[in-house]
Amino acid sequence: MPVVVQKYGGTSVADPERITRVADRIRETREKGNDVVVVVSAMGHTTDELLELAAQVSDNPPRRELDMLLSTGERISMALLAMALEARGVPAVSYTGSQAGVLTNSMHGEARITKITGERVRQSLEEGKVVIVAGFQGVDPVTKEITTLGRGGSDATAVALAASLGADHVEIYTDVDGVYTADPRIVPVAQKLDELGFDEMLEMAASGAGVLMTRSVEIGRRYDLPIHVRSSFHDGEGTWVRDSEVMEQAIVSGIAHDRSEVRFTVSGVPNRPGIAARLFGALADARIVVDTIVQNIAHDGTADISFTVPKAAVAEAERITKEVGDELGATVELDHGIGKVSIIGAGMKSQPGVAALMFRTLAGLGIDIEMISTSTIRITCVIRADRIDEAVAALHEAFGLQDGPNRQEGES
Ligand code: ADP
Ligand code: ASP
Ligand code: MG
Repeated sequence: MPVVVQKYGGTSVADPERITRVADRIRETREKGNDVVVVVSAMGHTTDELLELAAQVSDNPPRRELDMLLSTGERISMALLAMALEARGVPAVSYTGSQAGVLTNSMHGEARITKITGERVRQSLEEGKVVIVAGFQGVDPVTKEITTLGRGGSDATAVALAASLGADHVEIYTDVDGVYTADPRIVPVAQKLDELGFDEMLEMAASGAGVLMTRSVEIGRRYDLPIHVRSSFHDGEGTWVRDSEVMEQAIVSGIAHDRSEVRFTVSGVPNRPGIAARLFGALADARIVVDTIVQNIAHDGTADISFTVPKAAVAEAERITKEVGDELGATVELDHGIGKVSIIGAGMKSQPGVAALMFRTLAGLGIDIEMISTSTIRITCVIRADRIDEAVAALHEAFGLQDGPNRQEGES
């Protein structure tokens, strides 16, 4: 029997009524002659609430214990969904990540899936059951500790599980109809994309489009597994993330934004070889992901180095950067008021004038561009966080995205 892997996000299982609706949909999928494996997120804002609880008892909760706590969120929804299915006469069983054989490395809070053994999943499918797997969690096979995969990690569980079960695609059910040209909460005229390449989706996700976790897209690309992002509230087609067969790629497919980072500026760094390596080596050793690095050389032979760091890692990054800064006689400043706005499109690499139009649009709003970074298919500007919404809306309009992805000649 073909196996269908479906993932339901937090909003889709937020209350008992929604869980029963999800159960109905699963029953329909099964009645069409499919084996069904379902990955669930924690109900609604459960994960945030658990984090908040932890913060109330500790300023610095041990990462192991945080994972013990956070992994309970998905256990609640998986068990309730299995009950709702049984109540409909559909045989079902729920498994934690560990029971399902989701093996990870040892990095609590941001573990990576190394392998999915999936023995019990396969066995239960053979017994004719619907299998529900808790997303966002796994187990380190060496230490036997429970790990979590990082925010949005249920997407990664679903894509990895679908790849390991040989499914021909994975269905991500969420609270929007698919991937849009910009976050529909900010740009009401944003358009749903029918299709998007893995590379573009990867850049969108990494630039803040939280509709898919970045690592889930990486897994999909590696296994060439199409990801269908669709609404859990109706049956309409969503967005297919897959290697595109379209010959002419869109110049700009979407706008993404991100308010989750903080900028560090290290000033008065001696300008000699090895300094950047020392600073970023220390941050990397602490497994801190650094983005948008800019270095300016001053006339007096010193340099300023700026970079951005996710808010979640700020405390540790500050400690390390100040330590290295003291060593070098440099000063360290933090800026909590930055945001990033990015334009993404696989066709922009062969199209002049895209960056110019982006900069001109921001200039037209009187928005100061503080840092710029690019890849071949993305341009990102760091601006003030409180100007993000208007910047996203103006860029969406400037690139004509209200009419769908921009395939016309770019303006220069
Ligand atoms: P889930 O709980 O189902 O995993 P998420 O909240 O993680 O859902 O992701 C869905 C949300 O992603 C949407 O509600 C939307 O606000 C946001 N989002 C951001 N950028 C985009 C985009 N380009 N297209 C669609 N949704 C987006
Ligand atoms: N519950 C986790 C989170 O809120 C994982 C997920 O929803 O994908 O990040
Ligand atoms: Mg999500």
